[in-house]
Order: sequence, then structure tokens, then C-alpha cells
Amino acid sequence: MKIGFIGLGRMGFPLASHLVKNGLEVTAFDLNPNQIEKFIELGGKNALSIQEIAKNSDVVITMLPGPKQSKEVILGDDGVLANIAEGKYLIELSTIDTDTVDLLYHHAQQKNIKFADAPVGRLAAHADLGQSLFMLGAKENDLVELEKLLLKMGTTVLHCGEPGAGTRMKLINNLMVLCYCQLNSEALVLAQGLGLDAQKTFDVLTGTTASNGQLKEKWPVKVLNGDLSPGFDIALGFKDLTLACQAAQSTGISLPVGNLVRNMFQLARHAGKDGQDTSSMTDFWAEANNIEKIRL
Ligand code: NAD
Repeated sequence: MKIGFIGLGRMGFPLASHLVKNGLEVTAFDLNPNQIEKFIELGGKNALSIQEIAKNSDVVITMLPGPKQSKEVILGDDGVLANIAEGKYLIELSTIDTDTVDLLYHHAQQKNIKFADAPVGRLAAHADLGQSLFMLGAKENDLVELEKLLLKMGTTVLHCGEPGAGTRMKLINNLMVLCYCQLNSEALVLAQGLGLDAQKTFDVLTGTTASNGQLKEKWPVKVLNGDLSPGFDIALGFKDLTLACQAAQSTGISLPVGNLVRNMFQLARHAGKDGQDTSSMTDFWAEANNIEKIRL
């Protein structure tokens, strides 16, 4: 089976690398030549264009920043669907909005392409270790083959429903993940303001039901360790909160906390936090409150 992988960023690179390490033939395309170079060193191949990938692959996988890039790469005149043969697979791993995933599915169906969305859960550090979780939106008939392939990049595949359901689930998942970024930050900054010891605060908050996966697994190795490299970029977190808020608006569901946290992320971006990990919200909140940065 020939795999074409488009988007070798913080997430795409480790995921594609696991496919290579598991013996699959993977040809990749990314706008960033440095990522391609690293991928070739690992035993992967590169393509010079999206057309080349689409024409020569049995399965095309996309892992791009967001809806705009997905639409360009998949639906563009020189894109995946214009060049892929009937009966092949297209798997969208990127986190995109509900309208875009439905549009991609619609166009894929018209071309008789087997489409699935499988956005990725857990941290970038889990992707590095091959421990990602996939929220799969796919037709029942395609499940066995898709699960077999996704399990070469991660440990868990949860079938969420028909194509499009994976994306919807991912927006819900990230709404919670990103709201924790703000909540964790408020709690830690208040604790520091009250003169509490950072390590003791962390031990209490991760030892009670106040705990959450973000605080427990990510904070001690990222912001509280002074490592602000993304992980998950603040700009991408803002994108996902925006997608969740738009989804809520289009369904007439109220999302008070989600909209508030989206605004907080927007302020962090204005304060220059793009390019930093989402846990850097704690530094942003400390700075906004004139409190020293919190480190363990
Ligand atoms: P990233 O910005 O590190 O990587 C995106 C890659 O896509 C870059 O290498 C970029 O050069 C490439 N790219 C952009 N436009 C392109 C185009 N037109 N053609 C080819 N390549 C192109 O982002 P990431 O952190 O890897 O995230 C990718 C997706 O996964 C996003 O949708 C994100 O929301 C989602 N996600 C991220 C995480 C995380 O923790 N980082 C976790 C789960 C899901």
C-alpha cells in the first residue's frame, strides 16, 4: 500500500514517521523543505507536488493547519481530488470546521473516493511516542482497513460515526482541552498571588479531582518547566476555539465559557504568544496580572 502524506508539521512529522518505521512506503509533501529533509533521513520519500502524491498513492493523508489549507490542498485545481484515482482513500487528520469536512466528504463521494476524517487526540508528545488517539468518522465498510492503518500511527481508534463525526468530536474535545488552559492559568496565578508554593500547589491540584490531563501531563514538562516551544501552538488553539464557537453559533447552542476563553486566547495572541505552546497561557496570565512567571 502506497501512502501519500501531506503536512509534516509538529504532528504530521511524527505520525508519518511511525508509518515509515512500521514498514509502509510513504511519500510526503510539505511547503517546508527542512521537514522534508528530516523525513528523507528517516527513510521516507518526497514528492515535488500534491498532484504527484495524489496520482501515485493508494491512501492520501492530510495533516494541515486548518480549513483554509485543507480546502486548497484537497479541492484546489491542482489538488488531491483533481488527481486521485477512483476507489482510493483520503483521510483528513487536520482539525477543521464542520462545513469544510462536509464539503470535502461531498466532493470525495462525487469522485468515488473513500473519505474519512480522523482528527488526532492527546499531546504532541504522545504522537512522538506513537500513542495518539484517532476520532474516526468513516463508513462501516471502510472501518477495518482504516483502523489497521491508523493503529500504525497510534494506539487508539474510536469510531465516532459517519464521515464528519470525527471532526465534530474533535471540536468538542478541544473546547474542553483549551478551556483547561485558561482555568489552570487562573488557578496557578491566584495561588502565586496568595503566596503559595508552586510545587505544593501543583501537587494538591493534581492529587484531587481538580486535576485534568493538561495540568497533570503537559504543564510540568512545558510552561512550568520553562519550555514554551509548541506542542500545540497558541495560534492553533485559537483556531480550534473559533471553530467550536462557530459550530455552537450555527447550531444555536450557547457557549459562554468557550467564547470567553477564545477571547483570552485572542488577547494572548495580541501579547505576542503565537508560536508558543498553549500552556503559555499561564505566562500570559501571570504577565497580565503583574505576577512573576510560575516555574516548578
Ligand atoms: P504545524 O503548523 O506544526 O504543521 C503544519 C504543517 O503543514 C507545516 O509543516 C506546514 O509547512 C504544512 N503546510 C501548510 N500549508 C501547506 C500546504 N498548502 N501544502 C503542504 N504543506 C503545508 O501544525 P501541527 O501542530 O502539526 O498541527 C496540524 C493539525 O493538527 C492542525 O489542524 C492542528 O489543529 C491539529 N492538531 C495539533 C495537535 C498538537 O498538539 N500540535 C494535536 C492534535 C491535532
